[in-house]
Amino acid sequence: MKTIGLLGGMSWESTVPYYQTINRIVANDLGGLHSAKILLYSVDFHEIEKLQQADRWDESGELLAKAAGCLERAGAEFLVLCSNTMHKVVSQIEAAASIPLLHIADATAERILSAGIGNVGLLGTSFTMEETFYRERLEGYGLNIIVPQESDRKLVHRIIYDELCRGQVLDASRNEYRRVVEDLVARGCEGMILGCTEVGLLLRPTDVSTLLFDTAEIHAEKAAYYALNHA
Ligand code: GLU
Repeated sequence: MKTIGLLGGMSWESTVPYYQTINRIVANDLGGLHSAKILLYSVDFHEIEKLQQADRWDESGELLAKAAGCLERAGAEFLVLCSNTMHKVVSQIEAAASIPLLHIADATAERILSAGIGNVGLLGTSFTMEETFYRERLEGYGLNIIVPQESDRKLVHRIIYDELCRGQVLDASRNEYRRVVEDLVARGCEGMILGCTEVGLLLRPTDVSTLLFDTAEIHAEKAAYYALNHA
């Protein structure tokens, strides 16, 4: 079994389910008292968020590249970056490490393709919904990505940073997300990417009328199967 290097803490609320999902899969697969070999570098999200706000992405990339180096030196055999947004600086991280990184959008696109659909909505931070680094990666798989209208993108973004990253899961916000999802379904989406690792804490499959692709869950599953040499 390979040792997994998790780059987490962005936010820590969403790193917890990664740890649980990976361990659950390894335990089910190997049985007995088996559990995953995991190294976690959990950053101070305050520092990352300030750099995002100041548009100083290179510095956040450097910070994560250093963290990746620590994980590699400690014995990690591959990397898992537990934030969609921070995949914006993935090339800096990959350049600093000689172990592979499992890209969250690749894992998600593979899952969507295996569900046989092509038109999908994307919920995430403004960076993820509006910039090209994430959408183009998905479009490279032939997927058609549809994002909410501007005021809804702002709302989705605000709820992530002001509530979900602080551990607040509110019914009122779940209802807003449901409305945004159903609006995207009316615009032709056959499924919805929860393209932010915290959104699965708010929205569950039974909340909406469409298929949900929870990137945190999909990414954690991919990491577990890769560690077990099944992926
Ligand atoms: N966890 C989030 C994501 O998946 C957002 C927090 C961050 O900015 O890293 O995009």
